[in-house]
Amino acid sequence: MAACSYCGTSILFGGKQVGSHRFCNQQCAAKGSWLKLADQFPPAVVEQQVWKLHQGSTHPSPQLEKTVRTMMATQAVARSQANASKT
Ligand SMILES: [Zn+2]
Repeated sequence: MAACSYCGTSILFGGKQVGSHRFCNQQCAAKGSWLKLADQFPPAVVEQQVWKLHQGSTHPSPQLEKTVRTMMATQAVARSQANASKT
């Protein structure tokens, strides 16, 4: 059974295919769009750039920096939404 690449919900039918990822709806597809971007780079490279961005010293390619920043922003939003839904 397929699972949403963003929220992990099981996808019984339909869903939205984006590259190698599958999302349960348009909203998740939009929020999870960084997954497709991140696919362009090895995970280790992305993690390394995330670390460098946190350190404030980075000179990645513009495309990679955009990907990493989008990824970080998306994850921050996902975390805040997860926290909000708990209360
Ligand atoms: Zn989803």
